[in-house]
Amino acid sequence: MSKKPFVTKEQIEEIVKTYPTPFHIYDEKGIRENAKALKEAFAWNEGYKEFFAVKANCNPFLIQILREYGCGCDCSSMTELMLSEAMGVPGEDIMFSSNDTPAEEFEYAVKLGATINLDDFTHIDFLEKTVGYLPKTLSCRYNPGGYFSISNSIMDNPGDAKYGFTTEQLFEGFRVMKEKGVENFGIHAFLASNTVTNEYYPTLARTLFETAVKLKEETGAHITFINLSGGIGVPYKPDQEPNDIRVIGEGVRKVYEEILVPAGMGDVKIYTELGRFMMAPYGHLVTKVIHEKHTHKEYIGVDACAVNLMRPAMYGAYHHITVLGKENESCDYKYDVTGSLCENNDKFAIDRMLPKVEIGDYMVIHEAGAHGFAMGYNYNGKLKSAELLLKEDGSVQLIRRKETAKDYFATFDGFEIYNKLFPNG
Ligand SMILES: *Cc1c(COP(=O)(O)O)cnc(C)c1O
Repeated sequence: MSKKPFVTKEQIEEIVKTYPTPFHIYDEKGIRENAKALKEAFAWNEGYKEFFAVKANCNPFLIQILREYGCGCDCSSMTELMLSEAMGVPGEDIMFSSNDTPAEEFEYAVKLGATINLDDFTHIDFLEKTVGYLPKTLSCRYNPGGYFSISNSIMDNPGDAKYGFTTEQLFEGFRVMKEKGVENFGIHAFLASNTVTNEYYPTLARTLFETAVKLKEETGAHITFINLSGGIGVPYKPDQEPNDIRVIGEGVRKVYEEILVPAGMGDVKIYTELGRFMMAPYGHLVTKVIHEKHTHKEYIGVDACAVNLMRPAMYGAYHHITVLGKENESCDYKYDVTGSLCENNDKFAIDRMLPKVEIGDYMVIHEAGAHGFAMGYNYNGKLKSAELLLKEDGSVQLIRRKETAKDYFATFDGFEIYNKLFPNG
């Protein structure tokens, strides 16, 4: 399979007249179609809700689109909670799945009426001491340890992850919370990341549903929801087969009917907290080729760098690159595609076969819609790029302006840099 950008060279040449590269651009149509398909895939479950993982992309214009499909917000920090509040997201549509949580964030989440998903046994006490009581509804993040496997192949290693309650702690935690007056319980687990298989959710669901039945039997807890969290991935590589959300939804339904319904738990709501799946394919990082360098290797220097998209530098992650206008040329040239950070890992691609690249070419870096802009940082004094929305009618809307030097220097309170550079404010 080949990966096609959702913008053409002609469109980008028009857009850069107003918004110079680099920028992130998002595809409204794609976001909507995917959100609708997810909703339909889980329509069999009456209480189903997707809480979009705001950390994947915190742009309120994009979150607002997802809100139209019934999505809530999954928050992991103070500012993500503040964003949800400012957007008018009601408490019942906010999930607070954080870890190593500061007291003031628990306080704020309780104030908003968000559902708190506790990451640790000791947080039961911490939360009670912080706010003076326990909310009537609470959720616990479960980590059964060991490896997470699907048909004998290891998907991930939860035993090595910092998150969640052990099995023993989960059962003890439910007992303790029940004694302290908690009435409605949820269970959450995130056991494998970026899975490109329709089996992940159904396999995870089986573990969680079986655990839920035991928890109900042994502790008498009233379990009202099970949160399958994130982890449904996207094909970053062109030869990967994408997930089919309808097959995934149907797979979870089968396990639900096999395990929960016979246990008298046919009213349990299914929640998800997808981030990557909701946004990654619908965002491109668009960058311009500004240099060619011929030394021990062939380098293409672009005007974006790892601060715009750090996954390749951080994880060695593959992101597909299309040279706009050269979609149909054969990929006969091998390049490293680099940014300008003084860091040798600032490479969007290593030994990548591409068509012959020339200075002035525009490149689309694919799957940049999740964990892209949101992971941005300011190393080397780099400024964050703009975010644009390609609307369904073909027009382009600026949904976050690029950072300016003023933004960068604004936090040096009491030091003279800002006033010297910007004497007029
Ligand atoms: C990161 C995260 C998600 C979203 O994960 P994706 O891989 O983007 O789907 C959901 N829930 C929690 C608690 C997370 O930390």
